Amino acid sequence: MSGTSPNESPREVEKTFRRHGILFVVSAASGTGKSTLCNSLRQSKDFIYSVSCTTRAPRPGEIDGEDYHFLSREHFEEKVAAGGFIEHAHVHGNYYGTLKQTVLDAIASGTDVLLDIDAQGAESIRKNPDPQIAASLVDVFIMPPTFEELERRLRKRGTETEESIIRRLANGREEMQRWSEFKYTILSGSMEEDLTKFRAIMRAERYLSRRLTLDES
Ligand code: 5GP
Repeated sequence: MSGTSPNESPREVEKTFRRHGILFVVSAASGTGKSTLCNSLRQSKDFIYSVSCTTRAPRPGEIDGEDYHFLSREHFEEKVAAGGFIEHAHVHGNYYGTLKQTVLDAIASGTDVLLDIDAQGAESIRKNPDPQIAASLVDVFIMPPTFEELERRLRKRGTETEESIIRRLANGREEMQRWSEFKYTILSGSMEEDLTKFRAIMRAERYLSRRLTLDES
């Protein structure tokens, strides 16, 4: 028979917490250093990284299925029509979209997900009516210290044509105005500084009481 005899102290109840996954959305103007930050976060076991689909051509060294799923315009449109994306947007002349099922499955199983998407994409996720997405969303904006520094970083990367640089800078100037729409904003410094700041957000969000369910055994 179970129970506590008068001389025994009550059995210590072991507490464990379960929680749903968090959807970390990271946005920044192109060139800010967001991809470097996300690539570094991807090395840790803390998240699964959601690999987006795009109609953009691969850059040298980019791997299909790892950096992006590189799709033809037709294939991308088929996925849009089939409702395969949580959000999709036209960015710098190409289409980009976040695969819905990957994100929903991860969140439901308690795995955190990292999305590297533009400010329009972040806005559509914020407006998504699914309560599970709304409860799991943590959106973070990475702000370059100055517009000049953004240009310097973008040029240093050496991946874009002059035409693409001009377009990305024009879009970047607009994106930088949108920082206050995000729950958190990080003023970008070195990669290590950005990582430290992001990890601070990540840790706090993981301890949020409303994300936790207490199991006692
Ligand atoms: P890039 O061509 O430099 O890889 O990416 C261009 C922009 O598209 C970046 O701001 C990147 O965050 C954004 N992006 C990448 N994947 C997605 C996506 O699935 N959805 C949206 N809305 N933007 C994306």
